[in-house]
Amino acid sequence: MSGPLLKVQDLVKQFPIQGGLLSRVVDRVHAVDGVSFELAAGETLGLVGESGCGKSTTGRCILRLIEPTSGEVWFEGKSVTGAGRRELRALARDMQIIFQDPYASLNPRMTVGAIVGEALTIHKLTKTAREFEDRIVQLLETVGLAADHMRRYPHEFSGGQRQRIGIARALAVSPKLIVCDEAVSALDVSIQAQVINLLEDLREQFKLTYIFIAHDLSVVEHISHRVAVMYLGRIVEVASSQALYTEPRHPYTEALLSAVPIPDPSVTRKRIPLQGDVPSPIRPPAGCHFHTRCPIAKKGLCDSIKPELKSVGEGHQVACHLRS
Ligand code: SF4
Repeated sequence: MSGPLLKVQDLVKQFPIQGGLLSRVVDRVHAVDGVSFELAAGETLGLVGESGCGKSTTGRCILRLIEPTSGEVWFEGKSVTGAGRRELRALARDMQIIFQDPYASLNPRMTVGAIVGEALTIHKLTKTAREFEDRIVQLLETVGLAADHMRRYPHEFSGGQRQRIGIARALAVSPKLIVCDEAVSALDVSIQAQVINLLEDLREQFKLTYIFIAHDLSVVEHISHRVAVMYLGRIVEVASSQALYTEPRHPYTEALLSAVPIPDPSVTRKRIPLQGDVPSPIRPPAGCHFHTRCPIAKKGLCDSIKPELKSVGEGHQVACHLRS
């Protein structure tokens, strides 16, 4: 296949807020505000930013779990945003999601075997009961669980094991792209590392492509080839993982990185405090959304003109008027 595996073009998602006696639309939450990027097969793109910046909504709009307000998504050259019901069902085999809270996303009344096997049944991927069971055992073993776990229920497992069940469920349909939506955020640090290593191994073994969504920059550093930083619905910086962590160019990325602890105590990093809270996505600031918190914002420019993403190096793009 030539061209990117996934292409996202000017994706917008606004959630209407209804009010009054007639439940009219009185306002809108601007959750995703013109996001564009491409993803090559086998690549992992980290999508990071503070809570409420639109990264999870972006992931869900790509899979059409949430309908985007506008914009286009293509997968292997086929339009996802223009797909009808039947085409979407076929696309659902290629594009899967792993959720943050494995417990909430696993039906407590279903056995692990039934949860992992559900998609096999929906997509008619096995022909006999024997084949069905063998495939479930294979999937459980692939994610480091045991064959006899298939007869147990989600509450009998630890958080890390439950996330492995979620991964086995996503793998059941042999997808090409997996959106990992804060997939390790709820886990202890040591378990996070195990699950990240498992996802890395699976990517190589099954030639998977990931969008790895997290609010913590240190979590995405090792798993991502490239990282996109989001702020109030917009991508403000994209770069290779190496460039983003060593030479961040956007003031927001610099501030986020300055808060990441460095394991080596002899190395110190100057902390750049972020002033105030993230503004409301109902009325995001004009111009550069970040200008109300930016330490170098310029009056008359940053508060009125939207900075576009522009290239500042090979594969490195920044949306800032003052950085080139
Ligand atoms: Fe700061 Fe202006 Fe750059 Fe936005 S455009 S990040 S406000 S300097």
